[in-house]
Amino acid sequence: MNELTVVGSGLAGTLLSLVLAQAGHGVRLFERRADMRKVPQGAGRSINLALSARGLFALEEVGLKEAVMQAAIPMHGRMVHDLSGKLSFQPYGQSGEYINSISRAALNQTLIQAAEDTGKIQIVFNQRCTGYDFAKHQVQFVDDENQFNYAFQASGPVFGADGAGSPLRRALVERVRVNYAQDYLEYGYKELTIPPGPDGGFQMEPNALHIWPRSTFMLIALPNPDGSFTCTLFYPFDGPQGFEQLQTPEAVQTFFESQFPDALPLLSDLQTEFFQNPTGALATIHLSPWYSGSELLLLGDAAHAIVPFFGQGMNCAFEDCTVLSQVMNEMGHSAHPQWEPIFQTYHQRRKPDADAIADLALENFIEMRDAVADPGFVLRKQVSLLLEKRFGRQFIPKYSLVSFHRVPYSLAKIHGEFQQQLLEQLCEGLNEAENLNWDLASTLIEHYSQTAPNLGTFLEQEVNAP
Ligand SMILES: Cc1cc2nc3c(=O)[nH]c(=O)nc-3n(C[C@H](O)[C@H](O)[C@H](O)COP(=O)(O)OP(=O)(O)OC[C@H]3O[C@@H](n4cnc5c(N)ncnc54)[C@H](O)[C@@H]3O)c2cc1C
Repeated sequence: MNELTVVGSGLAGTLLSLVLAQAGHGVRLFERRADMRKVPQGAGRSINLALSARGLFALEEVGLKEAVMQAAIPMHGRMVHDLSGKLSFQPYGQSGEYINSISRAALNQTLIQAAEDTGKIQIVFNQRCTGYDFAKHQVQFVDDENQFNYAFQASGPVFGADGAGSPLRRALVERVRVNYAQDYLEYGYKELTIPPGPDGGFQMEPNALHIWPRSTFMLIALPNPDGSFTCTLFYPFDGPQGFEQLQTPEAVQTFFESQFPDALPLLSDLQTEFFQNPTGALATIHLSPWYSGSELLLLGDAAHAIVPFFGQGMNCAFEDCTVLSQVMNEMGHSAHPQWEPIFQTYHQRRKPDADAIADLALENFIEMRDAVADPGFVLRKQVSLLLEKRFGRQFIPKYSLVSFHRVPYSLAKIHGEFQQQLLEQLCEGLNEAENLNWDLASTLIEHYSQTAPNLGTFLEQEVNAP
């Protein structure tokens, strides 16, 4: 069997290598960075991440769910902080439904270790991919440790899991008839820390994702196992309310005093972190197709980076591996798979879902920074959870379809549109969720069930999954 080549030992690349090894392939996995198990990585993108159903399912398929969940912190809902510091809790789903805060580094290290433990995956660190020669089927690298350039002759297909800045994507885009768009958000992000309290415990409720929604911008915080919270400020780059105005310690102090007065006393290292930590950029990447013949396939952020507001980038990247594995199984296993039809079918099946979650993630930015503070939105959320409680699978709220189920993102998006109409009708003139008109609800749910696409098969598959 030919050895397969994977570039990028981040979240998608390591999981993909495990999936390929499970299917009986040998894998050579190239990574730009040093081995993160030995060399601590500098401040990077998002210290912690929200892991939910799709990611958990993919991890379970390679036997790692339990190990990863050991250090996870459940987040049952949003804890919204208003300007006066008043808190209100908005559950994400029904009791028992939650998303999980996990450490990116710990997760990545677990995946790298598991990959190495298979004995089928050889990981080579400090190898920076710089391009791909389609004619020769060679991947170009710089060995950053020993300072030399070389071309690696791939024997089977090359899988690009080299992240949002993917050089393999650049090589693919240079081919004819590849559509490509990179849409930057006008917002940047900066990570800050709320350390543990003097007793080593959490200084805020740990089982929630904290949000300080301020209409056009927001601060969020996710808990870490050591009792700290990682906070992220999402703020415009430019303009009168933008990072460009926050150039001095006084400006930063005044900004936090006026916008996040209850967070400020907890951000004990604010000034140092604010000026030392980078301001990250956020973009959505649309690319089509994600593959070329039987030679190259991009997965994860390399193919479809999205903004982080639905907490789905990693979950989606992991689900890419699940879908690819399904397609490989459906098309029959052999020592020499027909990669081109596999890539073609995978792309056809997955692309509409990647497009859908990209849109949903952008929409969710408005929900997080603005709508969560709107009483009408809060009422519709409460009503949607009551409907699910009463009608079960006939009405699963959009957030839950995305985070607690694995129905295709494109169907979750369509259902979200139907649900929006239904909820607007049902909540018109309603002041409290408890006063819901259940007769009207039944009629509307009946109509919704008959007109929205059927989710039955997908929900059935979830129940029957191992
Ligand atoms: C602020 C923020 C918050 C986020 N929060 C969430 C969340 O809560 N939940 C969620 O699901 N997702 C979240 N995401 C998205 C998530 O981080 C990404 O979708 C996920 O990391 C994608 O995995 P990947 O393997 O495709 O890319 P990456 O994790 O970026 O991995 C790419 C790998 O390729 C390597 N590499 C890069 N270039 C080269 C090269 N030239 N040669 C060799 N190797 C290379 C990198 O070193 C890295 O190891 C967030 C993202 C951001 C920015």
